[in-house]
Amino acid sequence: MDYYEILGVTKNASQEEVKKAFHKLAHKYHPDKGGDEKKFKEINEAYQVLSDATKRQQYDQFGKGFDQMGGGGAQDFNWAWQNQSQGQGMDAEDLSDIFENFFSFGGGGRRASKKDIKKGKDIQVDIEINLEDTLQQTTKTINLEKLITCHRCEGKGAEPGTKIHECVMCRGQGQVQQVKRTILGSYTTFTTCPECKGEGTKPEKPCNVCRGEGRTKGREEIQINIPAGIDSNQVIKMDGKADAGKKNGRAGDLYVRVLVKRHPVFVRKEDDLYISKTIGFSQAVLGDEIEIPTLEGKNMLLTIPQGTESGKVLRISGKGIAHFNGYGNGNLYVELIIDTPRKISKEQRKVLDQLKNLGL
Ligand SMILES: [Zn+2]
Ligand SMILES: [Zn+2]
Repeated sequence: MDYYEILGVTKNASQEEVKKAFHKLAHKYHPDKGGDEKKFKEINEAYQVLSDATKRQQYDQFGKGFDQMGGGGAQDFNWAWQNQSQGQGMDAEDLSDIFENFFSFGGGGRRASKKDIKKGKDIQVDIEINLEDTLQQTTKTINLEKLITCHRCEGKGAEPGTKIHECVMCRGQGQVQQVKRTILGSYTTFTTCPECKGEGTKPEKPCNVCRGEGRTKGREEIQINIPAGIDSNQVIKMDGKADAGKKNGRAGDLYVRVLVKRHPVFVRKEDDLYISKTIGFSQAVLGDEIEIPTLEGKNMLLTIPQGTESGKVLRISGKGIAHFNGYGNGNLYVELIIDTPRKISKEQRKVLDQLKNLGL
């Protein structure tokens, strides 16, 4: 169910309507009042996203798959991000926990996945892009080293042609009962079956290639769609693109952190770009037309008004980075610095002397 369905509102619902719907549902499902805890967490998660204009916009555009991390946030987690050029990710137990913490979704909503013993591990990678790449949506390909489904047994874990039996020890339950006796009486506990490690089945003959795991070391080329206007440290989540699960279990999720390289000319601040340009004293006084670079690569003409002071900033609308919500672009700001020459020619000195005498 999507977040709108969970809250029972339309995609065009106002913030006020979202809030109202949340309060009503939260009241109904609150665990302290005997409500459904799982449902309550769902409602809470939906509200966290839809009540925040930025998160909502991203959710509308990219769905749950896109998670944005703040610049500083990434450093709080001591993740060993690896360089994309090696095509090798660092894996972690279950990154969704970390992301939940980051979004303060109340935690626990997806923690059930930890019990999914067959699930593959999540992987995180860094990908570097140029500032120019943020002008429009771009696609990058990485060659990721990870666990892939075993070709020989197609992930089943059994030698082709052999059978998979129900585990004898736990009768396919994956758990075994143990009766513990204490001085106060005996009680029953359940533990993971040691024979099948909780899977409930055992191949008659484990696959020769994967030794029954259903997966092997391998590589996969993965195409990553990077939206226009992305900024450094934003993270793209790709469901099911990390390690294959054990015996055709659910694959882990791939988290791609985007790092935008520093540009030699343009400085980015949010969606605006900044450059500085030196102009001559006479250009500042008389006004002029100069050529300035744009991030797209084409130069454009900029009119310097008559009587420009040093440090004046001119704004060129729409020549910055695309806004992340898809509507329009930031601006380009050009700071004009008047260049005071240290060395001048004889001829220049003559003219300047005349200007000086004229009181300029
Ligand atoms: Zn195999
Ligand atoms: Zn068993």
